[in-house]
Amino acid sequence: MRRLFLALLLATAAVSAVEVQLVFDDKADEEKLKAFGARSVELIKEWEPKIAVVLGTAEAKRPKQITVRFKDMDGVAFWDGKAITISSRYASKHPDDVMLVVHELTHVLQGYRKIPSWMTEGIADYVRFGIAEEGKFGIRIDPVKNKPRDSYRVTGYLILQAEKRHPGLVKKLHLAGVSGGEVEKVWAEHCGQTIDETWAAVVPAKTK
Ligand SMILES: [Zn+2]
Repeated sequence: MRRLFLALLLATAAVSAVEVQLVFDDKADEEKLKAFGARSVELIKEWEPKIAVVLGTAEAKRPKQITVRFKDMDGVAFWDGKAITISSRYASKHPDDVMLVVHELTHVLQGYRKIPSWMTEGIADYVRFGIAEEGKFGIRIDPVKNKPRDSYRVTGYLILQAEKRHPGLVKKLHLAGVSGGEVEKVWAEHCGQTIDETWAAVVPAKTK
C-alpha cells in the first residue's frame, strides 16, 4: 500500500499537471455533459503550461488546482477567481464550443489589476483563437466599423498580428496587466507605434 502511494506521488510530481475538479450543480447534467466535462479537463491540463509560456506567467502565480463548475445560467462562462463557471444550457446547445475553456483558463493565468477589460478579453481571445485554434478567428474584420478596442476576437486578432511583427509584445502586455500598468503606453513603447497605428498597418483598408 505504501509503495503504491509513493509510486502515485512520483507519477503526479513528474507530470505536475494542474488538478481539475468538475462540479455539476444539477446532477442530471453530469451524464448529459460528460463529454464536454471530460474534454474541459483535458484541455486545461494540456493548455495551462502552454498559456503560462505564452503570457510569461510567473511560476508562483500558476494554479495548482482549478474547479470547473457547470451551472444553469444565462450567458456562456466566466472566471470569478474561484472557479471557471460554464452555463450548462450553453454547453448542451454548443458541444463544439468546448475551446471556450481555453479563453477562461487564460483569465486564470492573467490575474490583472485595473487594466481595460477590452485588453484582458482581447488577450484571452488571442490565446484561444490565435494560438490554440491556430489563427482561426471565424470573423471578418471591417476596418471601418471595427476598432482596436472592440475587445474579444477583434482585439485578439490585432494582438496576433502585432505579436508577429513585434515579438515579445504579449509578454509585456501581460506584465503591465499584472502590475496594473498602462497597457497602451507599453504597446507604443514596444512597437514604436500606437495601438491605432498598428491597427491601421495590419488591418487592410476596406475597398469600395
Ligand atoms: Zn473573458
